[in-house]
Amino acid sequence: MRQLMVSVCVLVCFGGMLMGSHEVTEIARKFVSEHEARIKPLEIEAGIAWWEANTSGKSEDFARKEAAQNRIDKALGDKNRFAVLKQLSGKIPEIDDPGMRRCVQLLYLQYLEKQANPEILKKIVSISNKVEKNFNTFRANVDGKDLSENEVRSVLKNSTDSIRRKQVWEASKNVGKLLESDLKELIKLRNEAAKSIGFTSFHALQLHLNEQNGEDLLRLFDELDKLTKGPFFKAKAQIDHELAKRCKVPVHELFPWHYHDPFFQESPAIFPSDLDSPFRKADILAICRDFYKGIGLPVDKVLARSDLYEKPGKSPHAFCTDIDRAGDVRVLANILPNEYWASTMLHELGHAVYSSLNMSPDMPYPLRGEAHILTTEGIAMLFERFSRKSAFLEKMGVKLEDPAGFQEAASRSLRYRLLIFSRWCQVMLRFEKAMYENPDADLNSLWWDLVEKYQGLKRPPGRNAPDYATKIHIVSAPVYYHNYMMGELFASQVHHALSRELFPGKSPSEVIYCNDERVGKYFREKIFSIGRKLSWNELIKSATGKYLEADSFASDFEEIKSAFK
Ligand SMILES: [Zn+2]
Repeated sequence: MRQLMVSVCVLVCFGGMLMGSHEVTEIARKFVSEHEARIKPLEIEAGIAWWEANTSGKSEDFARKEAAQNRIDKALGDKNRFAVLKQLSGKIPEIDDPGMRRCVQLLYLQYLEKQANPEILKKIVSISNKVEKNFNTFRANVDGKDLSENEVRSVLKNSTDSIRRKQVWEASKNVGKLLESDLKELIKLRNEAAKSIGFTSFHALQLHLNEQNGEDLLRLFDELDKLTKGPFFKAKAQIDHELAKRCKVPVHELFPWHYHDPFFQESPAIFPSDLDSPFRKADILAICRDFYKGIGLPVDKVLARSDLYEKPGKSPHAFCTDIDRAGDVRVLANILPNEYWASTMLHELGHAVYSSLNMSPDMPYPLRGEAHILTTEGIAMLFERFSRKSAFLEKMGVKLEDPAGFQEAASRSLRYRLLIFSRWCQVMLRFEKAMYENPDADLNSLWWDLVEKYQGLKRPPGRNAPDYATKIHIVSAPVYYHNYMMGELFASQVHHALSRELFPGKSPSEVIYCNDERVGKYFREKIFSIGRKLSWNELIKSATGKYLEADSFASDFEEIKSAFK
């Protein structure tokens, strides 16, 4: 292996000589195949260790995951390999194979991140793992009793006792104090690493690595802010009215614990029809399996490898992971019979179908994956929306006692969800940007300033706690959250394009995909099979006819509004 590397180096170091595009292409091809040989086994090992750490919560699994990640970082940090890549990336127009051109662009960014001081990178991995483990194993403690995350959610969703809600909310936020000092160190180390390779902050570096631009991003979010502000505050007034009535408090005494999740990122369940009731006796797994099979994207292989129910030490969250980019795709979940877990399973399996399962094994390894995190989140979110459509549920054999009542409640809740989530994403994007640009600022206050401005929640009097550190993404998926919002925009845009093409004459709000294999074919051909051959915005343009924009998203929440008015 080392021998091969040296020979590549020599060839390109003679780069002063004129070299034909055929030779440059051959060097690129060789680099890519060596990359696969060196990195793929390490990525598989890290993926499996990560999976086992999250399903068991055991220290030895976290240690294994850390060791594997360090080996990857070391391999990608190799200075000689990076020098070759840097020269290749300066000769991209000369590479005569478009797939290889794209591989070089992507690998350059992947290696660039790891050119920072290896000691700093090692420290980052070690602290991230510690923080993640503490986060996963933390349980809110109320009156000496540990509550699981599902139990916390259940109190916030169902209790009408403001004192109890406050106790549980505050207990769940104690994880922030536990993580604060490690997280602050992590932020500084991430910044240090970014500065060592020429970026102003970790935030700027992450955007660059993900082929995004800070100015374009803020422009899009400012646009969204304008678009959603009026409808959001109107919706929130209706929500507040209902929440206050339930807890028998005046509206001006509503605090963050009166909302139905720890961050007010989802729509509270304030509707006359109970959205959970259809799911109490439904088999969520069977609905998902049948739905995906019906659209020609079966998930049986995924479910067979997945870990789907609660157990001690296991991560309380949900995710999907593609272990080997060759079809070993798994979902971690903690399914309970309610709407939250129905939508979450539709979401995670959306990621699962947009994976190597539906990509050609002949594609080069660096291209065998989703185009971007925002495109895979978008596909997942598009499928997630169906758990709030009565026509979808009835088609999937779920018994609805009052279909009209359910649809009215579900439409309202979906509209609220889109609006609420978009305001929450404003907080996350702007907080993370400010946090990395000035980590010594008063982050506790900054967090609540943004929450007040964009979400309209009231800061609890005198509260001075690191509440930002209670959001897992700030800790372990940094500078990621804006992609969820862009994913929502993509979800609307692709659903509208698909509806126009496959269901002409139907309103996108009526299109539900069930038992129509043309839908799977559409996704496979236009999006999944492309892998990373195109950058995210080029993929969006080729699949929908336009670059990413907010129009379809806006018409979605307006259309849903007219459906229940
Ligand atoms: Zn997701």
